[in-house]
Order: sequence, then structure tokens, then C-alpha cells
Amino acid sequence: MAKLPQAAQNNGMRIRTRLVAGLFVLLLAGVIVGRLYVLQIRDRDFYAWKAAGQQLRDSVVPAPRGQILSADGCVLAANATCWTIRASPREMTDEQVAPAAAALAQILELDESRVLEQLSDRHSNDKLLRRRVDKETADAVRSWCAENEVGGVLILQDTKRYYPEGDFAASLLGFTNVDNAGMAGLELKYNTALTGQNGLVLTAKNAWGYDMPTHYAAYVPPVQGDTLTLTIDSNIQHYLEKYLTFAVQEHHVAARAVGIVMEVDTGAILAISTKPDYDPNQPRVIQDPQIRAQVDALTGEDRTAALQLAQQTQWRNKAVSDLYEPGSVFKLITCSAALDAGAVAPGDTFYCGESINVAGTRFHCANRRRHGTQDVALALKNSCNQSFIQIGQRLGKERFFQYFEAFGLCGATGIDLPAEPKKSEYYTAERMGPVELASCAFGQSSKITPIQVITAVSCIVNGGHLMQPHIVAQITDAQGHIKQKIEPTEKKRVIGEETSSVMCSMMEGVVNGGSGKNAYVAGYRVGGKTGTSQKLDSEDEKARIASFVGVAPADNPRIAVLIALDEPHSFATGGGALAAPVAAQIIEDTLSYYGVPRQYTPEEQETMETSVPKVTELGTQAAIERLAQNGLGGKVQGNGDVVTAQFPQPGETLPRGSTLLLYTGDASQCLTQVPALAGQNAAEARAVLASAGLNLRAEGAPDQPDTVALFQNLEPGCTVPMGSTVKVRFYDPTVVDDE
Ligand SMILES: [Zn+2]
Repeated sequence: MAKLPQAAQNNGMRIRTRLVAGLFVLLLAGVIVGRLYVLQIRDRDFYAWKAAGQQLRDSVVPAPRGQILSADGCVLAANATCWTIRASPREMTDEQVAPAAAALAQILELDESRVLEQLSDRHSNDKLLRRRVDKETADAVRSWCAENEVGGVLILQDTKRYYPEGDFAASLLGFTNVDNAGMAGLELKYNTALTGQNGLVLTAKNAWGYDMPTHYAAYVPPVQGDTLTLTIDSNIQHYLEKYLTFAVQEHHVAARAVGIVMEVDTGAILAISTKPDYDPNQPRVIQDPQIRAQVDALTGEDRTAALQLAQQTQWRNKAVSDLYEPGSVFKLITCSAALDAGAVAPGDTFYCGESINVAGTRFHCANRRRHGTQDVALALKNSCNQSFIQIGQRLGKERFFQYFEAFGLCGATGIDLPAEPKKSEYYTAERMGPVELASCAFGQSSKITPIQVITAVSCIVNGGHLMQPHIVAQITDAQGHIKQKIEPTEKKRVIGEETSSVMCSMMEGVVNGGSGKNAYVAGYRVGGKTGTSQKLDSEDEKARIASFVGVAPADNPRIAVLIALDEPHSFATGGGALAAPVAAQIIEDTLSYYGVPRQYTPEEQETMETSVPKVTELGTQAAIERLAQNGLGGKVQGNGDVVTAQFPQPGETLPRGSTLLLYTGDASQCLTQVPALAGQNAAEARAVLASAGLNLRAEGAPDQPDTVALFQNLEPGCTVPMGSTVKVRFYDPTVVDDE
């Protein structure tokens, strides 16, 4: 065999070397791919378990959870970067162990002996020291290790759930635990979608068994979880939480309050809240200061038990999880069923006397009122129990139960929130005697959830379509691709179009001068029904749930609002007095936010809004004359002859009869303090405001006898320019209980 030239030999050697090296690389790649396959797919659970045992150096790179956004783009749940500190004791020298344990224990606020024990496990290469610390702490660990030339301490980037809006929307969002897993609310319900796929860092050491701690052989990036876009509108949620919180404080509501706003045509939840709730950033901290103080006063096991109870209570989403007797709000169900079945016609009349005898049991109306002869609309307006007993009798127990079931009141609505009871409490037709039918017909004896109530009422006013209530509108992946879009789903057609429209006008009658008159909103047509429920399982026999369901605009409802105050301690316990004004305020703010134009009656026009003309550069007398043309007054400041500035500015609107401040000469803007108005009637409030140089925008029914101020939009004591307008809702606290 001829000898190859040296160069060729070298070449051959090089080729062989390259071949071997290439094979080696391929093998390495194969091993890594194989290892990844084993880690990620085949032995996922085994490695998850093993990683939890801290034996592996292969590090999981945690995936951020998907975000939760409101319909209008407000970020409700996001992620903050944080760091997890781990140690690999085998990479430390023996002399470093004790000082490292002391320093790390101090920086990480850990027990030193425990850290020393961990670091003394000289064979281990992965000990978890502290999860999810902030940047400052991670930096302190890093610089101590650098200064002292200590290796083997790993600072790994991690993410933690963060709720930028604090306690806003807490009861629907829920929260996560220390492992970033959903524990309540949407975080729990959508945990799988929200949880991303963790990434992985594989060290060469683990692939090959050699000690190459700083060389990464493979990196699989984490994939962020899916983003949820809700049907919740952050503005409407804000209105709901604001007025609900006010009502809880004002009426000393002991067992929390519930509010839901639903879009009646689609079943989409626009806002949902239980107050008081909690801050999902610190879900274990008791939000209610009184309850927190009670818990803190205890010690040992008593404290632990009380703390757990208080936490469970504040986490509970009453809107979805609590069964209650809907009381007279239920008359809407009985009424629409009887009309739809043809059991009664709107013109049929019913007599209400001293009492009605049903199979030996006597039933009265609330406060022993005798309503006399009424048609269906008037019976609903008066919330007359005796009439509704008769309406129930005409309907009969079989049909009563058929509609009860058709309205979705037997089982869960299937809303995409956790902890909804599978079954409500009710009488089937077989178990229902004449007395049960009577009490069920006016709203006692059945227990259902607030979400069932508002879903059924939406059906009554939307033409009879029972819609699937839902709170997530869309699920998108980390790249923003839509994975799922949730369309409105009709579950059942329950009543006909005509019954629905008759119900809308009857509900409007309840608000126009009936037991729901505190839900009146000038310029908008509002319908509704009040309810005052007994709590038969409560120790306090006076305990009530004051509720109101409102719909608007009544001629073609767009939204339904349910407010329920559980155990108010106030001048009254009735839904008409306590819950109706809260619903009215939310309806007013929501329709105004939607830009629904107001239509005023001639009486309303008298006090209606008027626009502010420009009067600067006019002489003071001419300015006042110009204002008078728009039904406004002017108050001159300074001793000049020409108006140099005005407040409010031209183009704004004011209630007729308001007074502007006109500045002349070198007079500068006058400020004033907003007085407290709660409990005053409209004339008193107007006078108090006028003496402070302020105007009144009265809402509700200010000019009826007995109505007094409830909410005001500017906080008492705050400083505002003179000439400003304070918006105040007036209501009638003497509205009769209708339980
Ligand atoms: Zn009656």
C-alpha cells in the first residue's frame, strides 16, 4: 500500500478527529434531547417530585401566569419579578459553610441553625433557601457572595402574582398561593389556562455526570400562561364597589353585601362584588379592622380558629356561593310565570283584606296593611302578599315548579366562577302543599343564589331568553392569539316577548311611586322590585336581607343590577329603603357612562341642566343678565367692572338655579369647604351649600316629603373652588317594608 503523503495523512487524521468530534456533538445533542424528553414528557411527574426533593441541579425556570384584564383593558392581575435563592453546598469550601449560613440567614430572615444544617449537607447540590424574595434581598445575597468569594449560591429569577389595583375586584379575581397556583375566584377556576409552561435549565453536569456547574447545556424558555379578558368593565365595577362599600358602612351591614350588574341580553357580568372583601396581594390579612382586632385579641388555638374563619369568610364570594330567600324580588318570577302561562291577565283583580286563609294558615301583608282591590300591576307595585298567594293558586303548583325550573332556579347557573352550589333549596311540585305554594309565591321558602336571581330577572326583561351568565369574554395566548372567544349562549326560552314587555312596564310602575321609588333616576326609565328577606336560620329574629333588583332603561332594558345587604343595622331593614338607592346610583352612573341620552319629563325639565354661557369680558351687569337667560345666577367677586374670569367654565352644564362665581379686577379664585349633607332634606342641603358658595345637583326624588340626602359625590371637608356643584342622592327612608 502506497504511503500517503504526510499532508494527506494529517488531513485524514483531521477528518477522523472531526468525525469523532461531530459524532460526539451529535451524541451530546442526542443525550440532551433525550434527557429533555425524559424530563419534560416521559418523567414529568417523577422529576417534579424529585425537583421538590431538591436533589437535582436541573433548574426549573418558572413561567409567569397569564394576565387578567377587564373588558376595557385595565390590568387586574399581573406578575412581578422576584428571585428564589437556592444553594449548592458541594460547591462551597468547608470554611465557607458557617459564615455563609450566618450571612444568608440574616439577609433572608431565616433561622441560622436551619440554614447551617442545609449547607452542611456537603453532597447536595440543591437546597431551597427562600422562595420569591424582592430585588433588594436578592442584590444583598449577590454582593455578600461576591465580596466573600463564596460560590454555590444560586439566585434564580422567578415571578409572583401581583394585583395592581389592590382590593379592587378581589372576590371575582381570587388569589394564588406561594407556589403561584390559583386558590379562589378566576385564579382557581382558570388555573390551568393561567398557568404557563415552566422552562428548564439543564447543566452539563447533569447531562454528563461531570462537574461543570457554570456551563449550561440546554435552555428551554418558559411559556407564559394564557391571558383572560373579562366581561367586567372596570368603570362599572368601580361604581358598584364604591356604592356598595358606602352602604355597608352607612347601614352597618353585619353579614356583608352583594352586588351584581349584568348585561341582560347576553348574560355577561359587567360588575360583581361582595363587600367587605380583601386585598389579593395579601389575602390572609383580615381586611375588616374590627374583625382583625377581635382575632388579634385571641391567642393560641382560639386565634388560629378565629383567623381561619375570618379568612374563609372574607374570601367567600356571596354573589355566587350563598343561598338566600329572595323575598319579594321573587314576585317577579311568580308574576311573569302566571302571565306567561295565561293563568292571570294583567287586568285581573285580587282582593287584599285583613288576612288570607290557606288550608288553615293565615297570611297577612307586611305591617298588616290592607291593600284592597288591585290589578296585577298594582299588586306588584304594593308588593301585596295576599294577591300573590292568589296568583300562585291560579298558576298551580305544577306550573309554578315548571317555571321555577325553567328560570334556572333549581341548579347551578354554570357561571365561570368557583364554589357555586350545585343545587338550591326548593319544593318540587310533589312536595308542595297549598301552604308551601302560598309562601313560595310571594318569595319565602325557596333559597337561591344572587347570581340565579339576576340571571332569571334578566330573562324576564330581555324577551324571555335565559342566558348563560359568564365573566370571561376571551382567552388569548402569550403571543396575543385568540384561543377562545366566549359567545353569549341562550340556555332556554322561558317566557314570551309580550309577557316580557308587560313585566318591564310593571317593574317601571314599582319605581314610579311604588315600593321601589328610591330607585328613581331623573331622565332615565328605571324598573325594579324590592325585597326584604327573613333569615330563618339566624339567631337574631330581626335579621333581614335588604335587596333590590333594578333594570334600565325600562322600555328596552340593557342592564340589570342586584343589590343585597345582608343584616343591615340601620333605621330600617327594608330593600326599598336601603338597597334601592344603591342600585339607582349604579344605574345612573352606568347609563351615563354608556352615553345613553336622558329624556326628561316636563316636571324634570324645570330643574334640568342648562349650559353655562361665556360671560367673561362682559360688564358685570350684562354678565348677570346673560346668565339669567339660561336660568343661572352670578355672584361678583372683586370690585372691577368687567368679568375677567368665571367659574364654572363656559360649556359646562349646571342644574337650573345654580350660581356662578364672576371674578373682576384682581380678585383670585375663592375656595371653600364641602359640608356634610347626609340626613338633610333638599331645602336644607341647598341652603347649607349656598352658604358655602356651592351648588346642588339633586338626584333621586329630592322634592318629595320625607326624602333626605344619602350619597354626595364630593367628600365632606374637601376643598373645592366656589361655584362648584355637589351631586347628592336623596331617598325616602320611610318606604314601607314589604317582607
Ligand atoms: Zn296586600
